Amino acid sequence: MSEVERGRDRGEALAGRRATAGLEGGCACGAVRYRLAAPALIVHACHCRDCQRLTGGAFAVNALIEREHVEATAAPPRSFELDTPSGRGQEVWYCGACGTSVWSRYRMAPGHLLFVRAGTLDTPEAIGPDVHIYVRSKLPWLALPPGARAFEALYQTEKVWSAESRERVREHVARLAASAGGE
Ligand SMILES: [Zn+2]
Ligand SMILES: [Zn+2]
Repeated sequence: MSEVERGRDRGEALAGRRATAGLEGGCACGAVRYRLAAPALIVHACHCRDCQRLTGGAFAVNALIEREHVEATAAPPRSFELDTPSGRGQEVWYCGACGTSVWSRYRMAPGHLLFVRAGTLDTPEAIGPDVHIYVRSKLPWLALPPGARAFEALYQTEKVWSAESRERVREHVARLAASAGGE
């Protein structure tokens, strides 16, 4: 089997694999550590320009998960605000010591979902993207695996997310609304 074929097999095996509960990760210097207390709702490979700049790579792998399921186990990360095409912005959290960004929150997403940078997991191979987004700015030398789900920009949640994940977010939003000061 050629190198290319092996790579393709690996890509297909990983596609759609979800983070299982209990995965741990952290920044490059180890000051920020976290644990995911639930599986990801969905995993994006995001090819937008912001993700390319923030990671210094071709795309970011973002595991979407409710904030209450991300347990920071060491120093809490710091954050800054960035503009987004939606106009509603995102808040990016990073290690105050080494600058590694570990997750962000897009204000247009429902409830309080965090986009955890799966490249900061101790075992990043444990998950793979369910869907590729913003492929309109995908780097031209990067070929997606055959059959990968890909969108020029964003997608409609109802058409892509599993029923289970949609239900989890409904419950999450209801809990936020029920708690004082919920958003
Ligand atoms: Zn650090
Ligand atoms: Zn992005």
